[in-house]
Amino acid sequence: MNIFNLRHELTGSITDIPLPEKIVLSLCGQRLYAGLDETVMAGQHIARSDRPGYGDLHSPVYGTIKKIDADSVTIRTLPGRTLPGKTLRDQEWMAPIEPDESDTQRLADDLNTLGIDTFDLHPAQTLIINGLNPEPGVTAFQRILAERRQPLLEGLAYATQLVQPGRIFVAVPEGSQRTLGPCDPLHIRPVYPNSLPQLVAKAATGSESMDDVVVLGVDRLLDMGRVRMRGLPATVRAITVQGMDYRVHIGTPAKDLLAHAGIAPVPGDKIVFGGPMRGQAQMSPDAPVQNDTYAVSLFAREEFLLFQDNPCCNCGECDRICPARIPVALMTRSCEFGKYSMALQYDIDACFECGMCAYVCPMQRPLVQYIRLGKSELAQSVAV
Ligand code: SF4
Ligand code: SF4
Repeated sequence: MNIFNLRHELTGSITDIPLPEKIVLSLCGQRLYAGLDETVMAGQHIARSDRPGYGDLHSPVYGTIKKIDADSVTIRTLPGRTLPGKTLRDQEWMAPIEPDESDTQRLADDLNTLGIDTFDLHPAQTLIINGLNPEPGVTAFQRILAERRQPLLEGLAYATQLVQPGRIFVAVPEGSQRTLGPCDPLHIRPVYPNSLPQLVAKAATGSESMDDVVVLGVDRLLDMGRVRMRGLPATVRAITVQGMDYRVHIGTPAKDLLAHAGIAPVPGDKIVFGGPMRGQAQMSPDAPVQNDTYAVSLFAREEFLLFQDNPCCNCGECDRICPARIPVALMTRSCEFGKYSMALQYDIDACFECGMCAYVCPMQRPLVQYIRLGKSELAQSVAV
């Protein structure tokens, strides 16, 4: 079997997991205004985004705020209103809000208030709904497209108003008969990294420029559709856990999710948010699901590629495999030694972090980590 395969035979369907005892929400870019020991309803607006176009934060559960740190807030789920073993549908919710569709800017503002990011949904000639799984081993996107047709169509109404495209595609695997409302099917060979937005856009337009293209994953489209149908904020995600898909509250600790899936990590196992190519290893099993997490993966010690600061042996494997045709060895060495302006000359900006270079590097160099460091340093130097 091709280990880069992105299309899977689906069995079962997306299932809810019970409410966790506690939820931990990231306050990155958010200004919290709920206080310690305050009781909050499910869906209650508790923090406002500092960044224009990004979604605000809401409590996914009915509970009490038990801890506030510099970068997170912990909410303990209240018993009584959330019966043991019941799912997220059984909680006390805030009253719905209806976004204002009469004006595009007001619609974007209302979606931000309801927790939806819209910063990248700008007017463009081409809108592509990406229904391909983002990484090998992930099935959530394929399943959302198969099972959540009506909310996706509702979300498409918002996306169309924000982007005002001349043409809309839905990206699906080659051989798939699936379509979505008025979207033209865009058939893509389901092999990683073909599902990444830059490559999907190129498949649709023939151009490597993303200037007049918006690629929107079915996960965010589903959030938008739920908002349109229910007037309630985006507080749950469909997430793949070792081949099964679950509907999970944002903020659920990874260990609760793994326990529900019947998976018990042993010492040495790595918990990763995402898949094997782009995933981020977590320091603790308490790490909470974020609003962009699409998978929680567990890798045994022997399966996990251990990156080390080994020297480059100039084999050129990374350069050969890079789909963005970047001189990867030179660019990552520039980052490694803090020469970030040189990394810019070697097209670090064109990198879409597919992870293929790190996968093939025989020296197991942490190439994507170097790249992320370089991008972050360059972003900070622009901001100063
Ligand atoms: S992660 Fe590596 S292979 Fe992928 S685009 Fe960036 S430099 Fe190229
Ligand atoms: S694959 Fe690794 S060792 Fe080979 S040139 Fe690239 S960075 Fe150097």
